[in-house]
Amino acid sequence: MKMQEIDCGLRLLTLITATSVYNVSVFAMYGKTRILKGIEMSKKWINVLTVCALLAVLVFAGCAEPVNFPEIVGEVPSFVIPSRYRIVGTSVQRRPIMCLQLGQGPDVTFIMATIHGNEPAGTPLVRRLARHLRQHRELLNGRMVVLMSVANPDGMVNGTRYNAKGVDLNRNFQAANRVNSKETGLTALSEPEARVIKQLIQEYKPDRIVSIHQPLNCIDYDGPARMLAERMGQYCALPVKKLGARPGSLGSYAGVTLGIPIITFEMLQADSQLNSEALWRKYGKALLAAITFPNRPQ
Ligand SMILES: [Zn+2]
Repeated sequence: MKMQEIDCGLRLLTLITATSVYNVSVFAMYGKTRILKGIEMSKKWINVLTVCALLAVLVFAGCAEPVNFPEIVGEVPSFVIPSRYRIVGTSVQRRPIMCLQLGQGPDVTFIMATIHGNEPAGTPLVRRLARHLRQHRELLNGRMVVLMSVANPDGMVNGTRYNAKGVDLNRNFQAANRVNSKETGLTALSEPEARVIKQLIQEYKPDRIVSIHQPLNCIDYDGPARMLAERMGQYCALPVKKLGARPGSLGSYAGVTLGIPIITFEMLQADSQLNSEALWRKYGKALLAAITFPNRPQ
């Protein structure tokens, strides 16, 4: 049912109720004193007349016509950044896995943090990055940035590297070097958190991926990402270092199997003590360098 019909119906119901109450009141007051004979007949005729009057009022008031709600015309104002906050899945312990999409351009960067639950410093950094992008919408011209601030919510709450089933999510992907085990998952993508990441990669087809970790103090990369790693290295103190593909890792899956440039951004253990502003001062420019690659951040 349309809003106009509901609105009209409510108005009609209100008027009928009000009129009936009025009629009863009138007869309670005057019925026996002014109309000495044929009270029942008079009530009936007055009711008929009242209904006719009511219908006339409704017709002339235009209730039969749809109510005209204001229409929104024109473009969305330019200061509104297209954004989409989504629950993209749930963890083993049923915690929501959130994803924020900013911008709508064709160049896509996917940045995630805390796939290892005991490496939490990336989470406030990613949230601070989201604030920066909202404040500097020019960065989103022609771009889309997809942010997942907590890839392993159970591990983060429980303070462990693994998910709630004891699986290392960063070893749970389908890659040529995959090894099945209790720690890496008995099959590829056995864990819901890993499946969510895979689905997002399939959906957004990112041009580059950054996964933020601790504490190895380097910018590691997989796939065709050497230039990207070196560029990010120009904007922070972390050295570029190739650690080598880990079996079933996200780096092996996205970088080697899919050919998507992917950075494993290994911050320091001590970074867990920093607040979001301090993290931003230390690493923000490097993340912006990834988003604006191959251009330089302003
Ligand atoms: Zn890690």
